[in-house]
Amino acid sequence: KKLGVALVGLGSYSTHQLAPALQDTEKCHLAGIVTGTPSKAEAWKRKYNIPDKNIYNYDTMQQIKGNPDIDIIYIVLPNGMHAEYTIKAAETGKHVICEKPMATSVEDCKRMIDACNRNNVKLSIGYRLHFEPHHQRVMELGQQKVYGAVNKIEAADSFVLRGDPTVWRLDKELAGGGPLMDLGIYCVQGAIYTLGNEPSAVTAKFGEITRPDYFDEVEQSIDWQMHFQDGAVAYCSSSYNDSASRLYGKAKNGWWELQPSFGYSGIKGRTSEGPMNLPNVNQQARQMDAFAECILENKESRVPGEMGMRDVNILMAIYEAARTGKKVQIS
Ligand code: NAD
Repeated sequence: KKLGVALVGLGSYSTHQLAPALQDTEKCHLAGIVTGTPSKAEAWKRKYNIPDKNIYNYDTMQQIKGNPDIDIIYIVLPNGMHAEYTIKAAETGKHVICEKPMATSVEDCKRMIDACNRNNVKLSIGYRLHFEPHHQRVMELGQQKVYGAVNKIEAADSFVLRGDPTVWRLDKELAGGGPLMDLGIYCVQGAIYTLGNEPSAVTAKFGEITRPDYFDEVEQSIDWQMHFQDGAVAYCSSSYNDSASRLYGKAKNGWWELQPSFGYSGIKGRTSEGPMNLPNVNQQARQMDAFAECILENKESRVPGEMGMRDVNILMAIYEAARTGKKVQIS
């Protein structure tokens, strides 16, 4: 049997990526939805053939508890809502996937992990790139020291945010921060899985605010460095007013580069020896199938809540470094 997934929050990512990916998955399928908007419920019901009994709103969501059609609840809400809804999901006894960044504080991450443990359910974070061939190749090149020890990483993830200035991504409460929370997390992840190690300290600097009408609560851009125990340094940047998608690694005897690197498709990679020639795949389908497999075979997720919490801890240290101008040790 294919496991049933219920998506919570039918915004852009659920609509354009996750629901289509769930038509391509082999071990799970789109079984239900949780939405606060009745017109969306109606449209999704027709488009994806979802029975009425599998359609919930935020107040009825706890009734998923008794629904055998649903095995996994996937939280795709604004960052500041991840903790509350992941905990609600865990309390239904269903396994949980939560989108990145896991939450807006380490304390919330801890509460989410505790709730999943208490209810004996698995928790996984929406880190799709762990299931992507170019990124898997980078993990191999870096961690297995194919070109020797890595000494330098460069990572940048940015886009120009336009449109409605009242969106949740610009709201400190709902987003937890600006481009660092949304995009910088890919650079943090990329550096860590290149090296197979966590940074021991960070330094950081906020960029200038040139669009104060948009950036009155969260940063417009940020540059930061992650210092690793073995001497490697990752030079990173994220901005909501620029365009970038690059992950580069330099080792003793060679280098590699993914550019563009962090998108849903069109990833291109090369090394000092030539093009990587790897396929682009449906990342989200692979990510959700891998989690379904973990549940079916009772294995741990490759991208568990603990990894999400580790990253939020680093993001918070980067903010502290940018605020204070000091080098901040990662505890
Ligand atoms: P979105 O704005 O398109 O959708 C957010 C959804 O939350 C909407 O359906 C909205 O109605 C609902 N919502 C409920 N309460 C809300 C409130 N108080 N304020 C605002 N919206 C509210 O956002 P999105 O791009 O779909 O992002 C959702 C989550 O998915 C975020 O955590 C984001 O970081 C993550 N995401 C991950 C990826 C990825 O590649 N893994 C890509 C995009 C988004």
